[in-house]
Amino acid sequence: MKEENKKKSSGDESGDSARSSRRNFMKSFGLIGAATATGGAAIYSGYKYEKKKGPKDMVRVLTEDNQLVEIPVSEIEKVTSDLKVLQSRGRQGIAGRRWVMVIDLAKCRNARQCVTACQSAHNLRPYEYHINTLIMQESETTAPYFMPKPCQHCDNPPCVSVCPVDATFKRPDGIVLIDNERCIGCRFCIAACPYSARMFHWEEPKLVEGQEDLSYDVELNVPQRKGTVSKCLFSADRLREGQLPYCVSACPNGVFYFGDENEDSVTNGTTKETHRLSSLLEDNAGYRLMPELGTQPRVYYLPPKNRLFEFPEDQKPENHTTKHA
Ligand code: SF4
Ligand code: SF4
Repeated sequence: MKEENKKKSSGDESGDSARSSRRNFMKSFGLIGAATATGGAAIYSGYKYEKKKGPKDMVRVLTEDNQLVEIPVSEIEKVTSDLKVLQSRGRQGIAGRRWVMVIDLAKCRNARQCVTACQSAHNLRPYEYHINTLIMQESETTAPYFMPKPCQHCDNPPCVSVCPVDATFKRPDGIVLIDNERCIGCRFCIAACPYSARMFHWEEPKLVEGQEDLSYDVELNVPQRKGTVSKCLFSADRLREGQLPYCVSACPNGVFYFGDENEDSVTNGTTKETHRLSSLLEDNAGYRLMPELGTQPRVYYLPPKNRLFEFPEDQKPENHTTKHA
């Protein structure tokens, strides 16, 4: 099946020379996404073709080198992406970006929409987590709060330096990923991570209908593989499409901000408001988890001050003695 698809996208299977040359033309554009063009001479005839068929029969697609081209709808067909291409772009990341996340603890009321959106995107079972919400309490006399905890995408990641086969790696855009085609399941990285951010797949992956022939995408980590490790990916696949991560978009309470440190800006996934990253952190005393370890996380937290809700009685830790923070 993969071979068939490779042939379709490369344009080598047709003996027809006009068709073949048109395909080479399209190949030079490097069409991306789930579609590429086949058949017909419409691309060459430009505006004449548009007049004849009308705008409803045409569709605009973006090429890899960011050119907008218009092609007939009838010439769109699904292709399966090539594993090596996905692995290569997965290592390169997105040029010019330094992704960063901010989590506002004052707003989290344990809706867990972030958790379920992540599980759904990555074919995880209800007891498998890339992000989880924890109940935290600093001392017996302080109020408890909820803390969403994904991988911290450390700039100095101990998980990466211990991997013996270069399966887990740090990209220039700040994201730490795992290539499950390389992972041998030794679990050194799980032991090295001080944030308990990684999980081991003990079971065969959860199968999702329609994904049987899906190529493994290192940016989505789907399909999962038994005997390998996975974790939060900052939704690298969504970032490639210009979208916010799954968890960030799913939160109904405005807990998550996500953005680019190079631009000093982050966007709230719920309100869609954009803020200056440096001001948000400075004005709210933003901090990172266990900075003394030197791991330099790319996830920042805003403390649970002036929280917007009462902590639910039935979820309070047993030793909680105060009514409010
Ligand atoms: S949080 Fe853990 S898994 Fe994530 S980058 Fe840091 S050390 Fe690695
Ligand atoms: S479990 Fe996989 S990713 Fe982790 S250290 Fe071993 S080979 Fe590397």
